[in-house]
Amino acid sequence: MDTPRVFNFSPGPATLPLPVLEQAQREMLSLPGLGVSAMEISHRSKWFEGVLDETTANFKKLLHLPDEFSVLYMQGGSRLQFSTVPMNLLRGTGKPADYVITGTWGTTAAVEARREGTVNVAFDNKAENYRRLPHRDELKLSPDAAYVHITSNETIQGVQYQVDPEWGAAPVVCDASSDFLCRPIHLRPYGMIYACAQKNLGPAGVTVVLVRSDLLERVPQGLHSMLDYRLYAKEKSLANTPPVFACYIVLLVTRWLLHDVGGLAHMHERNRKKAALLYEVVDRFPDLYQGHADPACRSLMNVTFRLPSDEHATRFVQEAAKRSLCELKGHRSVGGIRASIYNAMPIEGVEALREFMLDFARRA
Ligand SMILES: *Cc1c(COP(=O)(O)O)cnc(C)c1O
Repeated sequence: MDTPRVFNFSPGPATLPLPVLEQAQREMLSLPGLGVSAMEISHRSKWFEGVLDETTANFKKLLHLPDEFSVLYMQGGSRLQFSTVPMNLLRGTGKPADYVITGTWGTTAAVEARREGTVNVAFDNKAENYRRLPHRDELKLSPDAAYVHITSNETIQGVQYQVDPEWGAAPVVCDASSDFLCRPIHLRPYGMIYACAQKNLGPAGVTVVLVRSDLLERVPQGLHSMLDYRLYAKEKSLANTPPVFACYIVLLVTRWLLHDVGGLAHMHERNRKKAALLYEVVDRFPDLYQGHADPACRSLMNVTFRLPSDEHATRFVQEAAKRSLCELKGHRSVGGIRASIYNAMPIEGVEALREFMLDFARRA
């Protein structure tokens, strides 16, 4: 390697587990027994059928997913899901969809849903600059909602649900793009969970959709084929060419979670430990590191804080980069710093950032 790897705190596309990259590197020119690369093989091959089957089986093991859920592999990222969710689950129902808006991505999801039907904003704390999640008694849920849409982790604000929302009868549709598989979940409230891969699951190009069979049955007739969840379920995501290489990397990531990490309880433990290392420093120097999220709603994936001035923040980012701690600049809507520490960020990277934060505080 001419350039050594840095600790990459990018919000996405984000760092991947090193063993996954190493296996992909070993198999780059020739998959074992096949003599071609994962970028050159037919999506109709036995090999690729095996990739999707094993990935789906691994999701089922990791999440204890019952058979009533279909696993779909789609393209267009999570932003296409902002459109396909209401096309498939709201259009023609005559019911409203409830949107619980806790940050930038939830806001964007609701914009697309309004093109397909009635959106009831059950909660939106923009006025507080999205620092926290709703309390149950603040939610204005509709009695007959087609679904309730949430964003389990607001990637920009760093606000994350730590418990699964058991709010009522309507199925929860969850944008889990930036925290999918970061902890075990209780599936009961969820009708659908979707996640683009490039934050916590793999490279950009594939979006994983878990959808319950009773929601699939509601999909209206006459949708464009490639936007119709039923077609993906029926054709096992092979109606057209899926992003083969991205799916292959996602398979390797699920194997890493199962066999190297040992499942989602262990992953959660690691994630809690990593996040605590940073939040502890934030809390120790509150005048310097001003945490964005309310402590009860802090994300394990995206640690967001501001510094007293833009000059401090610029200096922080520049000095960190000199220590190979990269991509720490916060989103412009929040400002300051955002350290994205997804599943694949090793604890060594977080410890190095923590040391830097302590050192920066001593010199500030
Ligand atoms: C990144 C992100 C998106 C958008 O994903 P794309 O694949 O770029 O469309 C949506 N929701 C959340 C929570 C995200 O983090």
